[in-house]
Amino acid sequence: NSVVAIVGRPNVGKSTIFNRLVGERISIVEDIPGVTRDRIYSSAEWLNVSFRLIDTGGIEIGDEPILVQIREQASVAIREADVIIFLVNGREGVTAADEEVAKILYKSNKPVVLAVNKIDNPEMKEQMYEFYSLGFGDPYPISGTHGLGLGDLLDAVVELFPEHENEDEKEDTIHFSLIGRPNVGKSSLVNALLNEQRVIVSNVAGTTRDAIDTSFNRDGQDYVIIDTAGMRKRGKIYETTEKYSILRALRAIERSDVVLPLIDADTGIIEQDKKIAGYAHEAGRAVVIVVNKWDTIDQHDKAIKEFEEKIRAHFPFLDYAPIVFLSAKTKRRLHTLLPEIDIASENHSKRIETNVLNDVIMDALAVSPPPTKHGKRLKVLYATQVSVKPPTFVVFVNDPELMHFSYERFLENKIREAFGFEGTPIKIFARKR
Ligand code: GDP
Repeated sequence: NSVVAIVGRPNVGKSTIFNRLVGERISIVEDIPGVTRDRIYSSAEWLNVSFRLIDTGGIEIGDEPILVQIREQASVAIREADVIIFLVNGREGVTAADEEVAKILYKSNKPVVLAVNKIDNPEMKEQMYEFYSLGFGDPYPISGTHGLGLGDLLDAVVELFPEHENEDEKEDTIHFSLIGRPNVGKSSLVNALLNEQRVIVSNVAGTTRDAIDTSFNRDGQDYVIIDTAGMRKRGKIYETTEKYSILRALRAIERSDVVLPLIDADTGIIEQDKKIAGYAHEAGRAVVIVVNKWDTIDQHDKAIKEFEEKIRAHFPFLDYAPIVFLSAKTKRRLHTLLPEIDIASENHSKRIETNVLNDVIMDALAVSPPPTKHGKRLKVLYATQVSVKPPTFVVFVNDPELMHFSYERFLENKIREAFGFEGTPIKIFARKR
C-alpha cells in the first residue's frame, strides 16, 4: 500500500483533514488499559485504492519551537510517504512557516499536492491564488470542517502513487514480522529461521525502503518475512532513534498478517515491551508472542509455566496470543514457531457462517441475559461476521448504548469458545437495527 503524509505548520487543520480522510474508522477505538493511544498510521480508501495515512501531527513534540517541529515532521513525511499533502490555511495566506515547509519539501523530490484548507465557500476561492507562489502548481481548495474538495484532492494524490511491484504474490502467502526493543534477538531469529529454509528471493529494493522482505516456502506454504532489524544493522539508511524504529516497526506491522513480539527471557519483560506489543494488537494483526534466549533460563519443570504467567499478567490485551519459547542461538524449539504462525494466520482470516454464529450467540444469550441500563434491556437480534483480518462481527441490537463492555467481552469469549480464533484479535461492534 502507498503511504500518504499530511504536512503543514501548526493550526492549518491537519488533524481535521486526517480524520476526514480516514473516515469513521478513527472513531473505532478500543478502550484497553495499557495499550498505547498513539495512532500514527491509519488506513484509508479512495475509489477502491487503499492507502495508509501518517498522522505526522501525532509525532509532533510538545515544547520544541515551531520551526524544529516543522522540520521534524517534514523529514518523517519525506522518509515514509510516497505522496505528501502540503496543507496551508487559506484564511491566513502564505506565512513564513509555510515557506519553510515548502523549502524542505522542494528539496525532497517527493510528489507533493498542495491543499488550501478553510476554503469553506466558493467565494473564498480567490484567496487561493497567492499560494501558487509556493511552487507546487495548482492548489486544491478544501474545507476540512465542511468536507469540501476532498474528492478532487484525493484524485490528485492517488494519481501520484507509485506502481507497486510484487502484487502478483500469491494471496495465501503469510507475511510476518518480528518486533521488539533492541537486542531481544530479532536479527538472530530471522537468520536462524532463514538458515533452516530454502530462501527464494530476498528483496531489498522493491516497494519498501525500510525493511528486507525475504520469501520462503515450507511444506507448500509461502511465507514472507519482513525484516526491519537487518536494515538497522546495515547502519546507513536510518538513524537508530526510538522514533524511527517505532515508525519502522509500525510499517512492518501494517504489512504483516502475523506479528511476533519478541521478549528477551534473559532480561525479562519491561514497559517498552508492552508498548511495542500493543502496536500489533491495535493494528488488528494476528500475534504470536516469542520468548527468545530460552537457553539462558534454568530449565526446570515449571520454568515455562512461570514465564507464561508473567507474560499473561503483563500483556492482558494479548490473551489470545500463543507463546513460543525458543532460542535463536541454539535453535532449540525453533521448529515450534512456524506451526503457530500458520494457525494464527488461518484464524485471522477465518469466516464463520451467519447461521452457525447465531446458534452460538443465542446460546450465549440464554446462559446470561443482556444487561439493562436505566431500566431498559439490551435486545440482541442477530450477529454477522462482516470482515476478516481480523475477524470482525457486528451484533444488531435495539440500542447500542445499552451494550456494555463486559457483555461484549462475554460474547467474545463465547465466540472464542465455539470457534477457536487462537492467535487473532476479534472485534465486535454493536449496531442499531
Ligand atoms: P536485535 O537487536 O533484536 O536484532 O537483536 P540481535 O539479534 O542483534 O541480538 C542481540 C544479542 O542477543 C546478540 O548478542 C545475540 O547474539 C544475542 N542473542 C540473540 N538470540 C539469542 C538467544 O537465543 N540466546 C542467547 N543466549 N543470546 C541470543
